[in-house]
Amino acid sequence: MAVSSLLEQLRSQITKDSTLPLHSNLVFGEGNPNAKVVCIGEAPGAKEDELGRPFVGRAGQLLDKLIEGIGWKREDIYITNIVKRRPPENRDPLPEEIDAYKPYLEKELSIIGPKVIVPLGRFSMSYFFPEGKISRDQGTVFLLNGTLIMPVYHPAAALRNPNLIKDLKNSFAKLPKLIEKHEKLVEGKLEKLQGNIPRSPETLF
Ligand code: URA
Repeated sequence: MAVSSLLEQLRSQITKDSTLPLHSNLVFGEGNPNAKVVCIGEAPGAKEDELGRPFVGRAGQLLDKLIEGIGWKREDIYITNIVKRRPPENRDPLPEEIDAYKPYLEKELSIIGPKVIVPLGRFSMSYFFPEGKISRDQGTVFLLNGTLIMPVYHPAAALRNPNLIKDLKNSFAKLPKLIEKHEKLVEGKLEKLQGNIPRSPETLF
């Protein structure tokens, strides 16, 4: 079955799952189903809820700029969230909400099979690395089961604190090289990097 059909199937599974918490509009992932890069946010906000699309508010505009800044288009990658419905009043998603939506993110990622995943912010990072710390780990490239993971600051955090924009830009600038070197990084470094948090420092390339 085509990747886009599998994603549609997943969307309808989520729609039908009455056990899921939160009852606002479903905001499913969007973008290139064959993307090599997937960006993952935490949960939709008001604009996303209204339009049923991820990252279309102010944080989304900054995300678009970061993507365009490296010569790509938003449609080249795939953008999604862990929690796929808006928490009330834009509060942080609760641990039980994250847990409930997690299996669907896992399925979404396994359908797309990206080479590089960019968790946006601490909630998304801790899906992969519960012991991670965004201020320390942002921009670092980790290797996990054959996929490169590079957590970065959430664009909304950079809107609140513009000092973070430089780090965000520098991290996004690494993406073309990460795709290009994916094979080498995965093959050459796998054994060395196993155990604890696998870490492949920037200086590798
Ligand atoms: N913040 C997120 O984490 N996700 C969105 O889709 C929008 C804002």
